[in-house]
Amino acid sequence: MMGTDLTAIGHLDADCFYVSAERVRDPFLRDKPVGVLGNQGACVIAKSYEMKAAGVKTGEPIWEALVKCPDGVYVKRDFRWYEVLSRRMIEVVRELSPRVEYYSIDEFFFVAVPVRRGGTLQETAEAMRAAVWERVGVPVTVGIARSRTLAKLISDSAKPFGARAVLDPEAEARLLAERPVTEITGIAGRRERRLLPWGIRTCLDLARADRRLVRSLLTCSGEALWWELNGTPATPIRPQRPLHKALSRGGSFGEATADPVVLYAWLVRNLERLIEELHYHETLAGRLSVWVGYKDGRFGLGQTRLVVPTDRFDLLLEAARPCLRRAWIRGASAQRMHLIAEELHRRDPRPASLFEPPEADQRAEAVAQVKRQINQRIGRFALRSAATLPLASIYADRANGYDICDVRGKICF
Ligand SMILES: [Mg+2]
Repeated sequence: MMGTDLTAIGHLDADCFYVSAERVRDPFLRDKPVGVLGNQGACVIAKSYEMKAAGVKTGEPIWEALVKCPDGVYVKRDFRWYEVLSRRMIEVVRELSPRVEYYSIDEFFFVAVPVRRGGTLQETAEAMRAAVWERVGVPVTVGIARSRTLAKLISDSAKPFGARAVLDPEAEARLLAERPVTEITGIAGRRERRLLPWGIRTCLDLARADRRLVRSLLTCSGEALWWELNGTPATPIRPQRPLHKALSRGGSFGEATADPVVLYAWLVRNLERLIEELHYHETLAGRLSVWVGYKDGRFGLGQTRLVVPTDRFDLLLEAARPCLRRAWIRGASAQRMHLIAEELHRRDPRPASLFEPPEADQRAEAVAQVKRQINQRIGRFALRSAATLPLASIYADRANGYDICDVRGKICF
């Protein structure tokens, strides 16, 4: 056995994550066929192994799923909850690894190290699976190998609730020989067809092929995969989570309106929700768009770039107001609105010491912080702008305190 300085790359992937996340907060769902439904409640976007066994496929409409699996329990997805669990999982992984990369909401790559002096990486894989299961309640599969591409192939082959470290080249070759090239992320369709005339069908065929041939067939990204399959990491583990491209808040009004005061109230409500989102992700908006959809099918759009990226209510409202004016069609009945923050910047956790903000800015920052603290303690919209008063009935309905229609870090399903 090799010594304690043994390191490799790990891949952790939650098993049917959305379903597992629902089971964390509702044990009733355990061992039952469960389907998670998308935004409109029409399509199954995730399913449990029990539901998969009944033949239900991802993306299938609920009416077809109900025929195949009438005893299934169908729940609506809640990305906010999935994000909460995703963050708990990555915290656990960080305790067992010196370097962790957020790859997607339920997948992380990490530098794998022994959990104790002289320990094996197989132990590491098992310890990580156990720690996430015990502390978060989500079943995961862990693969450890010489590169990230190999680690992912191993965890895919060990699902569900697997833990497997494969570092011995012979065991690695056996595994690669069993798997078709299409199981490698990034190889499908046209790339698969390019490899076929050269007899490259399995992952092992690709690993054993001439490197220059692979480069000529699949360009340099294919060559990187070749190196990875042969155990040489071509992509480093990046510990900083990439920023979202955009964050947005909004939706349907329920009741259409042509009243500019009500429209303005919606602008403010959606802005306050968007700011919550910016805070959650510790980002600042560099660009803001206001989109309004009208009953007659028309729409209006106003966009602006912020002079300085910000998450502050007063500055964003100042920017949003002229956007709404541009998006507004006089006399037309508006039905929905979306506010979109783009060109996101990371919020620097350190206070700016070089350029002390002027007094007015300090005051505004302090007000924003008090608002945040009060709402954290008393309730989500306990303290909000008076401009939202025309929407009294929306705030009176407590169901609107939950963002059922909001999507965090995902494109709408
Ligand atoms: Mg997964």
